[in-house]
Amino acid sequence: MEQTDRTDCRTAGPKREAPEEKASWESGVRRVVPYTPGEQPRRAGIIKLNTNECPYPPSPRVKRLAAEFETDVLRLYPDPEASLLVKSIARRFQVKEEQVFVGVGSDDVLAMAFLTFFNTGRPILFPDVTYSFYDVWANLFGIPFRRPALDGNFRLKKEDYLTENGGIVIANPNAPTGICEPLSVIEEIVSGNPGSLVIIDEAYVDFGGESALPLVEKYENLLVVQTFSKSRAMAGMRIGFAIGSPKAVRCLRDVKFSFNSYTMDAPSIAWGAASMEDEAYFQETVEKIKATREYLKGQLAALGFSFPDSRTNFLFASHESIPAQELFGALKEAGIYVRYFPGERTGNFLRITVGTEEQTEALLSFLRGYLKQ
Ligand SMILES: *Cc1c(COP(=O)(O)O)cnc(C)c1O
Repeated sequence: MEQTDRTDCRTAGPKREAPEEKASWESGVRRVVPYTPGEQPRRAGIIKLNTNECPYPPSPRVKRLAAEFETDVLRLYPDPEASLLVKSIARRFQVKEEQVFVGVGSDDVLAMAFLTFFNTGRPILFPDVTYSFYDVWANLFGIPFRRPALDGNFRLKKEDYLTENGGIVIANPNAPTGICEPLSVIEEIVSGNPGSLVIIDEAYVDFGGESALPLVEKYENLLVVQTFSKSRAMAGMRIGFAIGSPKAVRCLRDVKFSFNSYTMDAPSIAWGAASMEDEAYFQETVEKIKATREYLKGQLAALGFSFPDSRTNFLFASHESIPAQELFGALKEAGIYVRYFPGERTGNFLRITVGTEEQTEALLSFLRGYLKQ
């Protein structure tokens, strides 16, 4: 009935010269420029130092649980609250369960946080050199943003974050630079912005950064995001989490439950909790990586590389005479994958993940040979 009426309406108007152009379905498409993830080559025998994964396996408790895994569990929906995992995180960080939000990797947690908190119409702020997913989410959700430039040494200028804004995201330690800003700077930014939510992305904090978690009790507008992908060796499982005020976490949960109730699958909940509970293994793994990083710093410096002081599991290194892009190609040809970010500010650096001792020796021995030619 309605349809007929509308047709009548159209034909009743003045006679048209040309038949009406129907809009293509494509005019309704949300256009985005996607994030480019690092390469995930599956070739055997390569040395993979390009996406900051942990070179050691997850806690042996995860392997034990995986061996016992009863597939009948998969018949049922998982716990939408992911309580087991939330509890283990709350216990580890000594916060209340209502202060913990979990998601499918911290990418999911961060995307949910953008969607939940950045709706004022004022631009959100993040540095010009940082995790390159932030501007992708801002564009996807139609959030305006500004990217204040880091200084010449890639340090944050806190004044840039004490101006009017619709929210703030800071990776600390930062990627790809590896630099950690002191907690005092983070606190000034959080306390100076009571009208905005401030996200601190701590993907690398376990490798020697200073966490903002102690500030969570003091500031309702702070959300700290961490991941199982780097220091907890579970990038393939996809687990991330945020800790904040009960109020902020409630807002996040409301949005998440309006989007997808069952983000965390049953194995992620069970194995993630087991991994979080194995503190001794976690500490041991992180200490090994930090020791290798310090060794790598010394060796690379001796070969003519310089880099900011890394508090992460990677170095952002530039060579005194060989362009980064050339080294990137040569390394790749030798089966050693590192990350290269073209661009004016980052184009002469390689981001090199700290691998095992053996991987590190292979990298160094290639570079020694290459630089001698
Ligand atoms: C790796 C990384 C993430 C995302 O990690 P997930 O695997 O999605 O948990 C987020 N932020 C930064 C800065 C990262 O380097």
